[in-house]
Amino acid sequence: MKINPFLDIVPFHNISEPIIIAGPCSAETREQTLATAHLLKDSGVTIFRAGLWKPRTMPGNFEGVGYKGLKWLDEVKRETGMMVATEVATPDHVAAAIDAGLDIIWIGARTVTNPFAVQEISDELTKHNDITVLVKNPVNPDIDLWTGAILRVYNSGVKRIGAIHRGFGTYGNKIYRNSPQWHIPIELHRRFPNLPLLCDPSHMGGKKQYIPTLSQYALDMGFNGLFIESHCDPGSALSDKEQQVTPCELNSIINSLIIRSLNDDYTDINILREQIDQCDDELLELMNRRMSICNEIGKLKKDKKLQVVQTDRYDTILQKMTTQAGKMGLSADFIKKLMTIIHEESVRNQIKILNEQS
Ligand code: PEP
Ligand code: MN
Repeated sequence: MKINPFLDIVPFHNISEPIIIAGPCSAETREQTLATAHLLKDSGVTIFRAGLWKPRTMPGNFEGVGYKGLKWLDEVKRETGMMVATEVATPDHVAAAIDAGLDIIWIGARTVTNPFAVQEISDELTKHNDITVLVKNPVNPDIDLWTGAILRVYNSGVKRIGAIHRGFGTYGNKIYRNSPQWHIPIELHRRFPNLPLLCDPSHMGGKKQYIPTLSQYALDMGFNGLFIESHCDPGSALSDKEQQVTPCELNSIINSLIIRSLNDDYTDINILREQIDQCDDELLELMNRRMSICNEIGKLKKDKKLQVVQTDRYDTILQKMTTQAGKMGLSADFIKKLMTIIHEESVRNQIKILNEQS
């Protein structure tokens, strides 16, 4: 998508500082919801989150208190003055949340994977578009599915929209519950710079000890805010207990974040950026030269009826390059990935040559 369709979206926050949205994974009881909210309010949080309808991967897990929690959120709003937010997954949730006076709703990762569900929610939003809607990334790393969901919401007439990066589902051994794949939200930010982008380090990390590092990383990359799970007594939480911090812990995480400016003096950086641009030009020229040589080899392989992929040769190149990279202080893993991509492209070009009519 080339044109930024979100040019007239309106910020839902003070753009000069990171937005912090915090609250429990789930509203469990009135007491737990209000106690958490008051502690967060005392820590300076201005937007409170709590899930009422919990889309759980497995049946039998706590699925939220549902509609009855709406009045607890209304109490939070009246008692603390914080804005209140919850997750919606159906048009009925949207209507009920808006009826209860909620300020912000978000569409969760599982719902965003289903364009029909997002469209139904968006159709409902046409009736009440004076609300802020945040769209989490889909569970799978698909930037177009994410963008499509944001666009559906935007087309409903809602003007206060934001995106939340919560990482992507993967299979097998992993450190983080959901893999960050930072290049995807960064690409979203590049395409739509005026779309507020938040990071949810709680669902990304899956454990509370990862929250500070992931939060700082996100802010360093230009994210506009954080969406963090906080519970007055995480040990007793009915969902996501390992990733929730107490309001007091949240306070110290927020206070230790380094907020970097975008408007510093860039003179020194620009001098270095000119050198980077020069390197990039040289890289392109080198890559072009390398591909031309590969194409020549491709023609010879065609004449001599040789196979395109010669594993021994590929292996020798990989060995040589990763060893030299290591000696130069470059990451061998990075050079291996780079050489793999270059090799794949060379093979693709040579196969094309083999199939060209002579
Ligand atoms: C949540 O924020 O409560 C939630 C369920 O997150 P996600 O949709 O990212 O899994
Ligand atoms: Mn949760």
